[in-house]
Amino acid sequence: MRFASLGSGSRGNALLVEAGTTRVLIDAGFGPREMSRRLERLGLTAEDVDAVLVTHEHSDHIGGVFACARRFDWAVLLTHGTLAACRDNGADVRTTIIDSQESLSVGDICVHPFPVPHDAREPVQFLLADGDKRLGVLTDAGHVTPHMVAMLGACDALVLECNHDAQMLAQGSYPQALKRRIGGLWGHLDNAAAASLLSQVGRSSLRHVVAAHLSEENNSPALAQEALSAVLNCAPDWIGIATQNEGFAWRDL
Ligand SMILES: [Zn+2]
Ligand SMILES: [Zn+2]
Repeated sequence: MRFASLGSGSRGNALLVEAGTTRVLIDAGFGPREMSRRLERLGLTAEDVDAVLVTHEHSDHIGGVFACARRFDWAVLLTHGTLAACRDNGADVRTTIIDSQESLSVGDICVHPFPVPHDAREPVQFLLADGDKRLGVLTDAGHVTPHMVAMLGACDALVLECNHDAQMLAQGSYPQALKRRIGGLWGHLDNAAAASLLSQVGRSSLRHVVAAHLSEENNSPALAQEALSAVLNCAPDWIGIATQNEGFAWRDL
């Protein structure tokens, strides 16, 4: 199994996972042309992707899903609530409704969705496994729940939201209402919350930890790396960063 990011942050998200002959995206926040351009960097074309797993209906995650699915014949898997909250009803797209707590197979990849607290209709995040390795992905969650901790235990790789630094958010230029939303229970994880989650999960098999969905205004890569590396007792630069423009390159499990 290997994984890479095409971009991560409030202007668009897409994480690519490959196992056996199967390639799936988690989210597609970029339109067809931009998606093709970003996939090219990883040595792929859009036709190499089989399916997209959608976490929730916010545009940075779903913005390119249906346009890409129509153009490239991708299957789309999403919860009932996420589809219901979309302006696009998914007509002419191979759409599969998933249960937020029920595992399923997509080709060679076992997909284990789990519900998260976020201000969307029926948001989920995903643990992906190939029978040998486990990749846990978590962005867009307002707080850490015991169920999230249980789902992300014993992973070989974790991609974890480090959306903001609480102090930078508080002192930053965002309007009060937006600050309350982002920092609230159904908003986004800050560096300290991500570190707390990391401290609660089994870490003995962890080979990759990548901080994701960083706010360009209210966080810095160094602060996210500092928070997560303190838990692992590792060098800060061992913690990867998923950036908005570049994502990150393939990582092998
Ligand atoms: Zn988001
Ligand atoms: Zn969101």
